[in-house]
Amino acid sequence: MKLIATKKAKHKITLVLTLSAAFIISYLFAFFYAKTATDTYSKVFSSDICVVIDAGHGGFDSGTVGADGITLEKDINLDIANRVNAMLTAFGINTVTVREVDKSVESDSTLKHKSAKISDIKNRLALAESTDNSVLLSIHQNHYSDPDINGAQVFYSSNNPSSAVLAQQIQDSIVNLVQPENKRSIKESTSSIYILDKASVPAVMVECGFLSNYNELQQLKSKDYRKKIAFSIVIGVLEYLKQTEEV
Ligand SMILES: [Zn+2]
Repeated sequence: MKLIATKKAKHKITLVLTLSAAFIISYLFAFFYAKTATDTYSKVFSSDICVVIDAGHGGFDSGTVGADGITLEKDINLDIANRVNAMLTAFGINTVTVREVDKSVESDSTLKHKSAKISDIKNRLALAESTDNSVLLSIHQNHYSDPDINGAQVFYSSNNPSSAVLAQQIQDSIVNLVQPENKRSIKESTSSIYILDKASVPAVMVECGFLSNYNELQQLKSKDYRKKIAFSIVIGVLEYLKQTEEV
C-alpha cells in the first residue's frame, strides 16, 4: 500500500515539475518574443506622424457601383477606413479622418454636383496638407469594364519620395496577408487622381479591390474580409513608420 502511494506521489511531483517547466519555458518564449516585437516597433510607438484617413466619396457622391447593382463604393470605403482608424488608434498612432459617416465634405451644401465634387476633393487635400507631419491614406474601390479583373493596387503621389515607400509597404502587406495570388505592382498616379497629383505630403490611394468583379465584390461585402483588408493596410502603415523612423 505504502509503496503504491509513494509511486503515485512521485508521479504527481514529476507531473507538476513537467507542467511547471513547460509553463516557464512558454512564458519565457512569449516574453522574449513580445520583447523582440516591442523592440522592433519601438520607434513606431514614439512616431509623431499623423495618418489622415480619407474614406473616398460619401454623401451625394456614391463612387462606383458593384456588379450586383446595389453595393456602393462609398459604403465599402467608409467601413474599411473606420476599421483602419480604430486599429491605428489602438496602436497609438495619431490619426485624423476626413469622414466617419456617410457624408461629403464640400464647403457649401448649396453647390451643384460638379462644383460640390471639386470643393469636396479640395477640402480632403487641404486637411492632409494642413495637418502637421501628415501622411494621406485614401481608401477606394476599383471598377473596370472587364469583370475578370481583380486584386488590390496601391497608387502613390510622385511629389514626395516617401509616397512610393508607403505604397510598397501596403501593397506587400495586402499580398502577404490577404491576396497571395495578387501580382499587381504599385503605380505612380497621373493627373487623373487629383488628390495624389496635388499632395505635397506622402500620399497613397489604396484601391482595395474591384467591385466590378463578382467574386471580389462578394468578399468585400463580408465584414470579416473587410477586417482583413483593414488589418493588412494597418500593418503596411506600421512597417512604413518603422522604416521611415529608422532613417
Ligand atoms: Zn473611388
